[in-house]
Amino acid sequence: MKITRRASLGMMAAAAIAPKTAAGGTMLLGDVAVIGAGVFGVWIAERLQRAGLSVTLFDSYGAGHARASSGGETRVTRYSYGGDALYAEMARESLIAWKEISARAATPLFHNTGVLWFSPEGDDYMAKSLAYLEATKTPFRKLDRAGLEDAYPQMRFFDGEAGFLELETGALVAGRGVQTVARLNNINVFVEKCGPPKKSEGRLRKFGRYQVTPGFFVNKLVYACGPWLPEVFPKLLDRRIVATRQEVIHFGAPAGDDRFRPGRLPVWADFNAGDLTYGLPDIEGQGFKFCFGAAGPETSPDDQERLVGADVVTRARAYLKRRFPDLAKAPVIHSRVCQYENTSNSDLLIDRHPDFDDVWLVGGGSGHGFKLGPAVGRYVAERITGAGAEEPRFSLASKQEVKARIFR
Ligand SMILES: Cc1cc2nc3c(=O)[nH]c(=O)nc-3n(C[C@H](O)[C@H](O)[C@H](O)COP(=O)(O)OP(=O)(O)OC[C@H]3O[C@@H](n4cnc5c(N)ncnc54)[C@H](O)[C@@H]3O)c2cc1C
Repeated sequence: MKITRRASLGMMAAAAIAPKTAAGGTMLLGDVAVIGAGVFGVWIAERLQRAGLSVTLFDSYGAGHARASSGGETRVTRYSYGGDALYAEMARESLIAWKEISARAATPLFHNTGVLWFSPEGDDYMAKSLAYLEATKTPFRKLDRAGLEDAYPQMRFFDGEAGFLELETGALVAGRGVQTVARLNNINVFVEKCGPPKKSEGRLRKFGRYQVTPGFFVNKLVYACGPWLPEVFPKLLDRRIVATRQEVIHFGAPAGDDRFRPGRLPVWADFNAGDLTYGLPDIEGQGFKFCFGAAGPETSPDDQERLVGADVVTRARAYLKRRFPDLAKAPVIHSRVCQYENTSNSDLLIDRHPDFDDVWLVGGGSGHGFKLGPAVGRYVAERITGAGAEEPRFSLASKQEVKARIFR
């Protein structure tokens, strides 16, 4: 019998073409197993599949689930990165792919709301972002305080504040977006928790170099486990990736009040010298989304209780009273607790495991990774197939063992 290397669930259905063990059990073979079906895992699988490899995805809970960093309603996509062209260009490349998948999806995954940035005038990050947008001829609109007040009468602006509106960017649908990438590309997800790499031994080596689960063999492994990476690789990644608790609150405007919906309100970011507060307009009737950008206390992605703290709601209302006064008394219509998976410098981690050939570690989204999914997928696929050069900022060596978060 010819041994096919087309694995994945399609192959599960066609298990008859899989080789048999001496004992008669079925063996499944594939080129690559991706462990983790968050935004990075699904796009890595999609780009590897495009490159002609057979790919299987595994996830402890399933794609885009409630505990994943990629779960929940929405994420911001933006080109302003304080002039950091590496991520701005990854965001630009990724938005093309997000738009493509959005066009194929039953309901949109990308909402071109625009992204409004504002801060006290003279902010360095804002100035560098603007310089990047100008240099790359990326469409934007600059606004002084009067212009801000005129465009957004539902908001309050203060002396010395100024801003700009990115015109091409906006919001991505998060958990459902991840699931859609997998579904529309026929990438099935095994709901299974995987351990660290296990080399095949003895006669099993001919099936593949690594055994992912009993009877399932591949030659290459990608661990895209987000905040769980230190759990899978404690010796290597403990303190190099630190999960922090982040709380998200959705406030509900009265029926018929469209001032907080796309068209009237863009995604907005009150940069405030890096101590960011940001929010999204009411997308898909989920309410006005509000977040404090600073990293919260350290947490565990499996075990943390996901009820938003009353103190955070109180702080949010105090902010709204000043900036969005008509929402200060609006009801909380739902809320979500998520986690960032921070590296010491907020740069991504994409590198080979130092002790295993063909085992890759991917994560460290550090509160800004979602939008970058397609570019991360392309980068990993190129590294695995030998088609792409290494980006030193993604290396394991560049990550320190400290809790830190730099806003990127
Ligand atoms: C509140 C909040 C706001 C954010 N805002 C933005 C934003 O506006 N814009 C932006 O671009 N980014 C944003 N981010 C960051 C972004 O969401 C994350 O960087 C990104 O989703 C990380 O994706 P991931 O695939 O690495 O991790 P995850 O989505 O967590 O996926 C990892 C997956 O691996 C699985 N897994 C783990 N261990 C195992 C195992 N042993 N076996 C099998 N499966 C396993 C998990 O179940 C999980 O599904 C935000 C994050 C949060 C929390």
